[in-house]
Amino acid sequence: MSDCLFCKIIKNEIPSKIVYRDDLVTAFWDIHPQTPVHILIVPNQHIAGAAELTPAHAETLAAMFVAANAIAAEHGVAQSGYRLTINQGPDSGQAVFHLHLHLFGGKRMSDRRG
Ligand code: AMP
Ligand code: ZN
Repeated sequence: MSDCLFCKIIKNEIPSKIVYRDDLVTAFWDIHPQTPVHILIVPNQHIAGAAELTPAHAETLAAMFVAANAIAAEHGVAQSGYRLTINQGPDSGQAVFHLHLHLFGGKRMSDRRG
């Protein structure tokens, strides 16, 4: 999608700190990290949000979680723990309408929100 921020990051049209890429997903540091490790894992295919997911996205969705686990290990938080969050729609505060899995880690998260 030409005017989508994360599509532009995936295509290297705007700079980002990419940490992982394969045929299905790309992952990069959040520009405003909320925790010592805060990485976004996104499908290479444009999907506006979790509400658009269908069984046809199963492989992509699995790839996002498998990538998240590998990234957690690479960033030293696999044992200490991490939080995976997807925001969907206005009440969640979703700001970018390209599906993304937040990976938060590197500190004890006392609340339930990330
Ligand atoms: P959400 O509220 O779930 O839609 O989260 C969007 C996230 O994208 C926020 O945590 C932002 O800090 C992050 N973000 C916005 N612009 C960029 C960017 N250019 N590169 C990396 N992360 C970004
Ligand atoms: Zn997009």
